[in-house]
Amino acid sequence: MSLPRNPTRAVRIGTVTIGAGNPIAVQSMCATHTQDVAATVGQTNDLHAAGANVVRIAVDSRKDADALVAIRAQTPANLVVDLQENYRMAELVAPHVNKLRYNPGHLYHHEREKPWQDKVKYLAEIATRHDCAMRVGVNCGSVDPAAASKFDPEDSISPMIASALEHCELLDSIGFTRYCVSLKDSDPQKVIEVNGRFASQRPDVPLHLGVTEAGLPPDGIIKTRIAFEQLISKGIGDTIRVSLTVPNSKKSEEIVAGRQIIDDIAAGRVRSVVRFNLDAMNIISCPSCSRVENEAFIELAQNVKEMTSYAKNHAITIAVMGCRVNGPGETDDADLGLWCAPNFVNLKRGGIELGAFPYDVILGKLKEELDSLIAARAAG
Ligand code: SF4
Repeated sequence: MSLPRNPTRAVRIGTVTIGAGNPIAVQSMCATHTQDVAATVGQTNDLHAAGANVVRIAVDSRKDADALVAIRAQTPANLVVDLQENYRMAELVAPHVNKLRYNPGHLYHHEREKPWQDKVKYLAEIATRHDCAMRVGVNCGSVDPAAASKFDPEDSISPMIASALEHCELLDSIGFTRYCVSLKDSDPQKVIEVNGRFASQRPDVPLHLGVTEAGLPPDGIIKTRIAFEQLISKGIGDTIRVSLTVPNSKKSEEIVAGRQIIDDIAAGRVRSVVRFNLDAMNIISCPSCSRVENEAFIELAQNVKEMTSYAKNHAITIAVMGCRVNGPGETDDADLGLWCAPNFVNLKRGGIELGAFPYDVILGKLKEELDSLIAARAAG
């Protein structure tokens, strides 16, 4: 069966071209510390060997940018850099990569007095000069505050679409069309809705699909599959990432899972999609990246899953995140949230922060809160 495809523009990223009916590209991201050049080169080449069309690397500092130069010299992979908060890193990294990814919600963090439009024009100019594509990466946990303020706080989807659309309009208006967009959330249903609505307005813009913090396999693969089946079967999606919480040595499982999902959809091996986990526990965990503050995070995510299995029939969402940069925000929608620091784990119930606990204590604290939440719901 051949998949329907939206009539998107062709966008070249190094040796691969997405959109315009080209095969759906599969990406992943290094979870190593970028300044550990040997480890990052090793993981990049593992991902490349597993069939990754593009490999993403986080660069937060000048030292990361210096490391990138050494990494570039030792890998044939198409590289994309995640600019995170400091958009000015673009001029340091663009000569060494094939794509720049920026998050509209993060452009505010530096030079607050400067309009975001000027920052995007700067990024487009740098990308053009260095033969880079760009990705406008909108995340539910870090939406542009100006876009968010125009909508009902309960509506997380409309601000994401509005933010993406205004960035597309600006890029088009300055003649920069070599870009794609991503609209990510940890809830597969929201991923389906936000991408479907965006694609209905801009069917020409290539989309990079992903479910953030999908978690451990196999659940993380299932969540992602649910979203991708609905979108790819309607022609939406030119490149994908399956974000999994796996040890560094198994990161290439993201590529294998992505290719399997695409093959299954193309062969008609799809499930009838129901709303995900309405009456069951939902554990989300980030895929880990260079920011993970303690390698014990992966084990913690596994232990949380095992420890909470007794409550698997309760509709409770638990989020487990690897760092203090995105952890607090990304756990906002969870009933119970954990995020890692070097020597302790922060715990939150709804919007209330409960404190920071050592790694050998946190599971007990989490169980207390889980039991209390279940009891409160039963009483209420
Ligand atoms: S939560 Fe932190 S460690 Fe996890 S993927 Fe996001 S930035 Fe990386």
